[in-house]
Amino acid sequence: MKNNILQKLSYGVYIVGTMDDTRKVGCVLNSAMQITANPQTIAISVNHDNYTNQCIKQNGRFSLSVLHEKSKKELIGTFGYHSSKETDKFMEFDYEMIQDVPVICDSCGYVVCNVISTLETSTHTIFVGEVIESKTYHDYQPMTYQYYHEVLKGKTPKNAPTYVEEDIKKEITTNKWKCKVCGYIYEGDELPKDFKCPICGVGIEMFEKVE
Ligand code: FE
Repeated sequence: MKNNILQKLSYGVYIVGTMDDTRKVGCVLNSAMQITANPQTIAISVNHDNYTNQCIKQNGRFSLSVLHEKSKKELIGTFGYHSSKETDKFMEFDYEMIQDVPVICDSCGYVVCNVISTLETSTHTIFVGEVIESKTYHDYQPMTYQYYHEVLKGKTPKNAPTYVEEDIKKEITTNKWKCKVCGYIYEGDELPKDFKCPICGVGIEMFEKVE
């Protein structure tokens, strides 16, 4: 189905955090919205394949940290392109434990929510959460998904609700190298030897030339 109009919807860039039995887990989200003002509730959409999904269901609580334009790009690489099953994603970043769930300090701020309802779709769970605590850390411009794409040159991972096949296809031209981990495209004559992916941090051995 041609659905270009859906690409005109606006999104942010967020990190959702929760716990499994003993460990901090989390992932990147682009879909979050406020649903009601009193009580304050929000809805988020999390892919079934993300380990964080089942952890939110078990825990019944999650945090949502709102990234800003100056937030470290590595947050997106770590939280967006690895699994919490294998990695402690919070280890490399400043975080706080609020109401027993982790929040990211390098953000505009956070809300912590108790899950009050869920809706299953074919690929994603929509969690509706009631806000039990919130805080503003910084007044920087919140990062929009458009900023992530156009300024940071980030790509849409397959698990995102907004993924479309063209997202990869349109990048295929000459003299480009693509990060095999996150899809970041480097453009130039040669890939510098000490180059590191600005999104996920891997070295040039993880890049392949786009023919
Ligand atoms: Fe990468």
